[in-house]
Amino acid sequence: MSQAVVVGGGITGLFCAYYLAREGVSVTLIEEGELGEGSVHAAGLIEPTTFYQINNSKYLRDALSFARRGVLRFKSVNPRWLLSYIRHFGETLSPEDTELLGNMSEYSIAEYRRLGEEDSAWCYTQPGLLELYEEKRSFEAELDSLRARKGWRRVERDGYAGGVIFEDVGVVNTERFAQRMAKELVDSRVRVIHAKAERVNLDGEVEVAGGTLRPERTIVAAGIACRRLGVPITAVGGVGFRLSVEGGRRREERPIIVYERSLALAWFDEWVKITLGLEFGFSPPKPKTDSVLRYTQRFVGQARLIDSKWGFRPCSPDGLPVVGAKDAVVVATGGFRLGWSFAPAIARRAVDLALGRGNNHPRLSRYTRKLHSGTLT
Ligand SMILES: Cc1cc2nc3c(=O)[nH]c(=O)nc-3n(C[C@H](O)[C@H](O)[C@H](O)COP(=O)(O)OP(=O)(O)OC[C@H]3O[C@@H](n4cnc5c(N)ncnc54)[C@H](O)[C@@H]3O)c2cc1C
Repeated sequence: MSQAVVVGGGITGLFCAYYLAREGVSVTLIEEGELGEGSVHAAGLIEPTTFYQINNSKYLRDALSFARRGVLRFKSVNPRWLLSYIRHFGETLSPEDTELLGNMSEYSIAEYRRLGEEDSAWCYTQPGLLELYEEKRSFEAELDSLRARKGWRRVERDGYAGGVIFEDVGVVNTERFAQRMAKELVDSRVRVIHAKAERVNLDGEVEVAGGTLRPERTIVAAGIACRRLGVPITAVGGVGFRLSVEGGRRREERPIIVYERSLALAWFDEWVKITLGLEFGFSPPKPKTDSVLRYTQRFVGQARLIDSKWGFRPCSPDGLPVVGAKDAVVVATGGFRLGWSFAPAIARRAVDLALGRGNNHPRLSRYTRKLHSGTLT
């Protein structure tokens, strides 16, 4: 294959374009906003060995308790997502699926490490993560679920029921990473079209900016817009704030998650990133900004809001990644809460499919069986 189009320049599409270019393919990347647009709001935690399988009673119980606390909100879901969710409810992952996700996680982390060692401008570090629990019950449940996992230790923290430090968690400065990736793509002669792709056909044709592109393969990494092509993806919104804390409190050694609030804080040289919000729906999420910023003062001291940006977690019915090909189109999505953590592995698999290396994986491609041509608008 010598020519490909990638639709969507969020973190998944950026990695797709990057891997295709490294394979010597002539790539056109279509992104309606800036490169990284759909993804830069994220905290940038690169979390290994976890994935949020959601179609089971444990996740549903957790979701309901988050909803009772006002942390998770249901506004609307894709009806096809809901049907699939119900149909596949109660599934367990087979040992092969667990191994697959473990391998994908290892691949992704190795890629972030490689990039971080190659050039500090990729802004990847591995400071670990401190996860704090406000309630004894959730802390004990977490300790219970961690029995089989290595690389963590329990810590005390005033005002919290407990905390756990995970040494193997990394973090990227998402804004800087997207900028570094944009440079890489320009240097690799990737052509970038800043416009909305209007239609994708299964023969790979893409209608954009009043014209039609006819590459040999098209990878659609358009996040929640993949639902327009028959993939049962729903949207879970959230917000990222950047705060300037000059003269504020000493920075924490590690990023922090406050479990019950689904709140993440990550310290970078120029700003602190704070993310929150789990809103099922396709409209912009509206978290209670003032109370959140008041709460985070305990970690950052007095701080000035630089900006805020919202985005969506593309969520499949089981919460796992989706990578599948039909005719000349490959879909790469489903990163959900770990879209940054799994982007390299999702993109690698999508690119391998586009290059004709290997077949659809039954687990990853099961939501792409009804893939069809369609408009993305
Ligand atoms: C508050 C919050 C915090 C998060 N924190 C983390 C974290 O710490 N770690 C982690 O691993 N994950 C995190 N995530 C999840 C992660 O951000 C997402 O899973 C990830 O952004 C998904 O990437 P994507 O490229 O697949 O999709 P998106 O980011 O949605 O990107 C899709 C891109 O396609 C473009 N697009 C769509 N349609 C078209 C079209 N027709 N034409 C042209 N362009 C189009 C969009 O503009 C967008 O840029 C977080 C998510 C949220 C909401």
